[in-house]
This record gives sequence, C-alpha cells and structure tokens, in this order.
Amino acid sequence: MVASLLDGKSCSADVEAALVGRINNCIDAGIRPHLAVVIVGNDPASHVYVGAKIRACQRLGIKSTHIELSEETSELELRKIISDLNDDENVHGILIQSPLPEHMNEESLTDMIDPSKDVDGFHPVNLGRLVQSRDDCLIPCTPNGVMRLLEWAGIETKGKTALVIGRSRNVGMPQAILLASKGADATVTIGHSRTQDMESQCLGADIIVAAVGRPNMVKKSWIKPGAVVVDVGINRVDDDKSERGYVLVGDVEKSAEEVASWITPVPGGVGPMTVAMLMENTVVAAEQKI
Ligand code: NAP
Repeated sequence: MVASLLDGKSCSADVEAALVGRINNCIDAGIRPHLAVVIVGNDPASHVYVGAKIRACQRLGIKSTHIELSEETSELELRKIISDLNDDENVHGILIQSPLPEHMNEESLTDMIDPSKDVDGFHPVNLGRLVQSRDDCLIPCTPNGVMRLLEWAGIETKGKTALVIGRSRNVGMPQAILLASKGADATVTIGHSRTQDMESQCLGADIIVAAVGRPNMVKKSWIKPGAVVVDVGINRVDDDKSERGYVLVGDVEKSAEEVASWITPVPGGVGPMTVAMLMENTVVAAEQKI
C-alpha cells in the first residue's frame, strides 16, 4: 500500500479562497482585517514562519504589522507593546511568535493578550472555551488545521481510535480535545515523554497525530496498516548535500507511507494549514467588530 497524500498546500489554498469573500465583506463594512505579528530575537526557523504568515496576509489583502525586536528586549518593553496593540482598535489579531528568549515568561505574556485578539488561541479564556465546546473561541491554529485537513480529505474520525503524541498547550492538548469533541467523536489517547511502550500505543491507533519535535521518532513498523498519519513535527536535520546545509523531516519515518492509508508530507502538510487557520482566526476576530 502507498498512502494517499494529505495535501496541506491544496487544502490551505481552499481555506484561503473561502476567506476572500469574508475579507471583502469586512472591508465593505469599513474594517480591514489587521494582524500584528511580534517576533523577538534571531531564531532562524521563527523568522521563516513569520515570513510565511506575513506573505499569507499579503495574498489575502489582510493588513499586517510586523514588529521585530532584538534578543535583548526586556519583558517590560514587550508588555508595553502588547498593551498598545490591545488598545489599538484597528488591530484585530495579535501573535507573539514562539519561542521567546529565555528571560521572558511566555505564558504570562500570552495571558496579557486581549482574548478577542488572541489569534493563536493560547489564552486561557480561549482554551477554556475550547474545553467547554463553545463556538465563541479562537481555536489554536495547528490542531484546528489538522481537523480541517482530515475533514477536507473526507477522513472519518467518528468512533476511531486516535493517538496524539505530544501534550503541549499549542498542539497536543488542544488536538486531543478537538478529536474527542462532539462531532469528531474519536476515542483519544495522549502520549508523551513518560508513555510506556509507544510502539504498542501506535499499533492500536486508527489515527496518529505526532507532535513531538523528534526526527523520525515514530517508526514505519509502529503504524497499523491502513492508519491515518498526521505528522506535525518539523525538524531541521543537518545534511551536507543540501544547499541550505539541512533538510526538514517530520516526527514519523517517511517510509510509513508504505503502510498508512493517508499521510501528511513534511513540509507541505500541516505547516500550510497552520498559516491558513491563522488567517481564518484573524478574519473571525475582525468580523466581531462589524
Ligand atoms: P513541545 O511544546 O516541545 O511539546 C513536545 C511534546 O512532545 C511534549 O508533550 C513532550 O512530552 C512530547 N515528547 C517529547 N519527547 C517525547 C518522546 N520521546 N516520546 C513521546 N513524547 C515526547 O512541542 P510543540 O510546540 O507541541 O511542537 C511539536 C512539534 O511540532 C515540533 O517539531 C514543532 O516544530 C512542530 N510544530 C509544527 C507546526 C506546524 O505548523 N507544522 C506547528 C507547531 C509545532 P512531555 O510533555 O512529557 O515533555
């Protein structure tokens, strides 16, 4: 068996196309959706991600403000910037690119963002609403993108066993909640660094979502034949033969495609979906102002 591709590029293009009319409606009502992206420091991967987000805004006619701060920026200075963005009624979405430098408390800074502008969906108000299955929350982009991709491909989650590997607040935990929530109706197991015998957990799963950050951790031999594999991981691995000196690989061995029924490519799977869902959250936030 060779798995079908869960093509995040095509799906994200469809998500973006569906946003165009909504963005025009906002603009007709005098509100141009506006995303502010703040990045602190020189992490190369973070700059690549921010670039992709800004380019998506440009494609769609969403206004973007890109605030780049040096590694030495104090937490107090960043707090002032967030506070100003909260007060600016022309800004609808605020994103603080993770990771922040070690001298900053990422969680308390996220807590400062006005929940109605929290387009990353990490604020406790939004995560709390997600747990309550309320529809008035901004949902974290990556797990929401995974759900949209599964739906787009016509993959049934109802009654299926799903294993989410990773329990971060931005990916693993909300992913497990979304898969288990009414409507998706999967039976979910959460794996993490203390899980015993991950191989058996994987072999029992109809759907695996790997969000770990360890290159090729999930082996081909761990995949139940016909399972759906969503690889969230993006890992830079040194490669002298590559022009950039590195290649991007996922958390799942590529050869898993020989066993799975569906699999996301890395790159080109979950990454584009994350960006598309960020655009959608920004539009949702702007629509609240009409
Ligand atoms: P994170 O905050 O570092 O969380 C990683 C999770 O993996 C933790 O829950 C950790 O368990 C678990 N883990 C670590 N080692 C493990 C092991 N040996 N076995 C089982 N579980 C293990 O990372 P994240 O932010 O969730 O991101 C995960 C990956 O997804 C990264 O590669 C990241 O770059 C990628 N990512 C991709 C996108 C995208 O758009 N494609 C978006 C976000 C993130 P503990 O809780 O026990 O420590």
